[in-house]
Amino acid sequence: MNHTTATSPIIVAIDGYSSSGKSTMARRLAAEIGYRYIDSGAMYRATALYAMRHGMTRPDGTVDARALTAAMPQIHIDFRPEPGGTQHTLLNGEDVEDEIRSMAVSSIVSPVAAIPGVRHALTAMQQSLGRDKGIVMDGRDIGTTVFPDAELKVFVKASAQTRAQRRLTELLAKGVSTNFEEVLANVVSRDHIDETREESPLRCAADAIVLDNSTMTAPEQDRWLMDQFLKTAAERP
Ligand code: C5P
Repeated sequence: MNHTTATSPIIVAIDGYSSSGKSTMARRLAAEIGYRYIDSGAMYRATALYAMRHGMTRPDGTVDARALTAAMPQIHIDFRPEPGGTQHTLLNGEDVEDEIRSMAVSSIVSPVAAIPGVRHALTAMQQSLGRDKGIVMDGRDIGTTVFPDAELKVFVKASAQTRAQRRLTELLAKGVSTNFEEVLANVVSRDHIDETREESPLRCAADAIVLDNSTMTAPEQDRWLMDQFLKTAAERP
């Protein structure tokens, strides 16, 4: 079914807390309606990996903001579609999809994402990816900063416990050795850094539709999101 032919393409911005399931919803909606999907968190993760590899992260969990800001023009991030509708993140041409999901990257990504020079460079890349619309992008500031005029904005939330349990299940399935406490601590710490940073903090746009998916199944979320999309598309000229 192609829902895109009836109306001109729009921008769908899906923001929310870490491990809220927003990426899965966003990816499935994009596949269903024939839009491009962009995981903006993967761009911050790839940048964090670059910083780690180039000695810009310190043992105390801080980052050399000046060195990383200066290096941003050397960082090229692409997405390669994979069979089954998923995609892999490429950092300067190298497939880093598995590495950017590691706990090591998760623990440094929020300090990296708080650096204004990093945010400006990645925001510009994201805006150019959405120039022609027909895009579903998920992240923390897509509806507030990257695409403040997006036609459909959704903000996803769920309790920290629920999100940590989902993330733990995902990580264990991938063979990553971790436990509930470690994952919960990471989720809570990332929420805090994301909500309190000065540059584009995580917050719900005034015109976003809020979804608390704590007790929803994946198919229920997919249906809900498709309904919102169809409603928004139907209201367009
Ligand atoms: O979405 P994901 O959890 O993979 O994002 C990783 C991190 O990247 C977040 O915890 C947040 O610090 C940062 N991020 C951001 N702005 C976005 C997307 C992600 O600051 N638009």
